[in-house]
Amino acid sequence: MNHKYRKTVIAANWKMNKTPTETRTFGAEFRRILPRGRWCEIVLCMPAICIPAGVKAMRDTRVNIGAENMYHETFGAFTGEISAPMLVDAGVKYVILGHSERRAMGETDADINKKLIAALEAGLTPILCVGESLEQRKSGVTFEHITMQLKLDFQNIQPEQLRRIVVAYEPIWAIGTGLTATPEEAEEVCQHIRTVIRKLSSAKTARATSILYGGSMNGDNAAQLLAQPDIDGGLIGGASLDPEKFVKIINAANQDAE
Ligand code: PEP
Repeated sequence: MNHKYRKTVIAANWKMNKTPTETRTFGAEFRRILPRGRWCEIVLCMPAICIPAGVKAMRDTRVNIGAENMYHETFGAFTGEISAPMLVDAGVKYVILGHSERRAMGETDADINKKLIAALEAGLTPILCVGESLEQRKSGVTFEHITMQLKLDFQNIQPEQLRRIVVAYEPIWAIGTGLTATPEEAEEVCQHIRTVIRKLSSAKTARATSILYGGSMNGDNAAQLLAQPDIDGGLIGGASLDPEKFVKIINAANQDAE
């Protein structure tokens, strides 16, 4: 982490795991045990149907609500989709884009690029996920794959807008598997991501971009991962579903700041 140049972000990705009722229960407990007066940015990304309950439960706290996906068009005949302005109106501040689970459902880099542009235009902070599969890692193409994802996802995005994007490095083989990348493995790729951003925009933008690690992060491994110079936070799936487990990770991020 580097608190001087960029914000630390600890973001939950609940995926399809909570109902609105469970969101209220989580919210009440999370508020009770939330560390006070610390500086790291906290985000709860949740299913769209939970957002009103999440916004209400976190009112008057420093916790931001995020969505897990959105559509790139603003309005129109797109049955079942939700637009960026709709999320903003509901009180959402962040949106996860390009998660590997959505890419596996057929979302392309061209789709993600359109969504990034729409999210930025609406004033949302996108959390863009990139990462390699186990096969790609084994065949030594991790850096090339991530460079390609970033180049395609960032097409036609101006440097001043690019600075508002949070990037999450999520090796697919580490998501939900209990197999965490070592701090060195994660740092190597996060550092590479920063280098790519520098080449695509500027040193200033690269230095200001928060880059998160995601993939089986938990209360036991968070401190070591967050101690790496280019890891500015975490995107957390499984360990974010329980308020106590999630707070452990927030505490690890806060400790490093002390
Ligand atoms: C994720 O899906 O973004 C994720 C990091 O999940 P987990 O923490 O469960 O590996």
